[in-house]
Formats: sequence, structure tokens, C-alpha cells
Amino acid sequence: MQKVYLDNAATTAIHPQVIEEMVTVMKNCYGNPSSTHVFGREAKALLELSRKKIAQQFNASPSEIYFTSCGTESNNTIIKSCVNDLGVKRIISSYMEHKCVLESINDIENRNGIEVIRLNIFKDGSIDYSQLEDLLKDDSKKTLVSLMHANNELGNLLDVERVAKLCQENKALFHTDTVQTIGHYKLDFQELGIDFASCSAHKIHGPKGAGFLYAKKSTHIKPLIAGGGQERGLRSGTENIYGIVGLAKSLEISIEELSSHKKHIEGIKEYAINQLKLNIPGVSFNGLSADFEKSLYTVLSIKLPFHDPLISFELELAGIAVSQGSACSSGAAKVSKVMETLYTEEEINQMTPLRVSFSYLNTKEDIDALVSTLAKIASKHQLVNL
Ligand code: PLP
Repeated sequence: MQKVYLDNAATTAIHPQVIEEMVTVMKNCYGNPSSTHVFGREAKALLELSRKKIAQQFNASPSEIYFTSCGTESNNTIIKSCVNDLGVKRIISSYMEHKCVLESINDIENRNGIEVIRLNIFKDGSIDYSQLEDLLKDDSKKTLVSLMHANNELGNLLDVERVAKLCQENKALFHTDTVQTIGHYKLDFQELGIDFASCSAHKIHGPKGAGFLYAKKSTHIKPLIAGGGQERGLRSGTENIYGIVGLAKSLEISIEELSSHKKHIEGIKEYAINQLKLNIPGVSFNGLSADFEKSLYTVLSIKLPFHDPLISFELELAGIAVSQGSACSSGAAKVSKVMETLYTEEEINQMTPLRVSFSYLNTKEDIDALVSTLAKIASKHQLVNL
């Protein structure tokens, strides 16, 4: 049976060069970076070299990069530490955020009584920038703005420079979840003027279990995980040296290949949009997904003009892997918070959202397989509705 992987926003295949580099480290460098003997020092040198290489890609200082286990941990640490350590009393965010941000903020709201404001969302999934501007004018409470750089379900991109500027002008801290954009865009953290960002290696052809958080030097957040004081006290626990080396390598390859991969993937996305329109009457796209300027080129959120909660299973029978929401909720065929925010219940009952997400490994043949299977499913629904 054919096997077509179109779920790269959930996770990606590890790049062969990343595997090679990780295996070399596994074989040759098993010391604990905290040990003072030569084995430890070798591991420590690799750790710091990886940190330096990563920092360079973002015009950051190595001391602003803290290794974590994933994007979820990075986002939790940033948000919770802002409240615990930096005196944040108000959080401005949205219902479009990834679950790890939504849940971190819910937790804080319930436990600490912090004021939380979720911005209005327009029908295209974008945030209300003027509401944000108005809210920030009130600087009586120390504020954290937490808005994702790109939405993992729709692909919508935030105008991160505009938000950073607003935050700076009004002395608010700005955290942006960059898990879906790192490696796909060249980001200069200093120039963007953000305070916090997050990254996960497995989204950029690196290993699972490795990520980092960026915290601007002046911010001084404190640890959530206490212990041996690794990561300059911010994140105790023996470092995942193989994962960290893999993270640095996957980032290096992503940035080196950025323009050629971008060109290839944009071609795939354009082909998918055209083929879907040609073969599925009434198809459209959620949010700003079909807008090449305003959305991630790696994500396409399809709106099928019929309701079929079992669609991902039907696609799976044809060997095609996609997602109906974020990875955590896929399989459950539950309507995601993002779709609930965009559509009324009645609208949801007349459509099926489907997220396809691409990598440099995808081909036009993958799209042909997806479109022909979807066309068969669509014609079945159209016959039933006749
Ligand atoms: N933030 C966004 C936007 C994501 O898409 C994801 C993963 O899907 C995460 C955070 C969580 O990352 P991780 O899987 O590394 O915990």
C-alpha cells in the first residue's frame, strides 16, 4: 500500500545527516557534561558548541539559549516563570494558541488569580491588533503578551514585528511561540525585539525530546525544575547531549537549505490548492491558509464542503496521513478550539476541516494521491445529498 506523509506540522522525519551526527556522539561522547573529568569536559564542549551555533542563527547570545525537552516545556517555563518571577499580573493571549500555551495560561488563571484577556479573533483567524493596542495603553499591571508566530492548524502568521513594537512601547513582555516557524524563516530575535521564543527539534527534521527556549538577557526568569543547577540554574537535569547535537544540526541544515526547501514546498502547496479547487467542487481554505504572504508555506488548512468526522480514517485506509487538528487531538475527531473559535456549531456541522502539512520530502505525486482520494470521498457525499 502507498504511504503518503502529509502531517509535517505534527512531526518530521529525521534528516539522515542529523542521525549520523547523533550516532557519532552516542558512540564517542557519553560523559556527563557536569563531570569535571575529560569525558565530562568533552560532552560539555559539545553542549556549548551546539548552544553557540544555535544562538548565531538568531543573532542571540549563547547565554540567552536554554535547552529543554520540547516546545511544550519551553512554553510552560516561559509563561509560568513570567508570573512566578517577573511580577506579571496580566496576560494577553488568544484562543488560537497551542494547547501547551492555552493550558499554561488556564492553570495560572485558576491558581494565581492573574487577569487573562483573550483577544478577539476575526473570521480569517487573525487577531484584533487594535484591541491589543488599546489594551496595552493601560500599563497599570505588568503584562505579558503571548501570541504564536504561526498557528499550527491554520498556518496564519502573526505580524510579530508589529506586536513586538507595541509591547516595547508599552513596557509589556512579549512571548511568541515560534515552534512552527523556526527553521522555515530566518529570524533575528534582536531585530524582532521579542523577549521569549520557543523551539522544538522534531518539527525541523531533528530528534524528539530536544528543544530550547530563548529568554532575552535582561529578563531573568527562574527555574521550574530544581536540582543540579544545569542550564545556568534554569533547567536542572542531565542534558540530553545527543538530542541537543541533533537539534543544532537540524537547525543548521534547515537554515542552509531554507530557500531551496521554501521554493519546493511553496510549489507543492500551490499545486495542492489548484488541484483541490479543480477536483473538489465547493472546497475552500480555513483562515489565511491559502494566502502565501500571510500564512506558513508548510501548512494548508482545507475546508471540505461536507461533514465527515471519519475522514482521517478514510484517508488512512488509502495510506495517507493528515491531521484534523493538532497532533494531540487527532484521532479523537474532536472539533479543535481553533475551529470552534472560527465557526458556529451550524457551520461546523456542514464542513470538514483537514490540515495537510508539507516538508521538502513531499512530491506532487503525494498531492495527486491526496486529491484523488478526497475527490472520491467528496463524490460519495455529493451523491448522498442529491
Ligand atoms: N507550539 C506549537 C505551535 C506546536 O505546533 C507544537 C507542537 O505541535 C508545540 C508548541 C509543542 O511542541 P512539542 O511537541 O515539542 O512539545
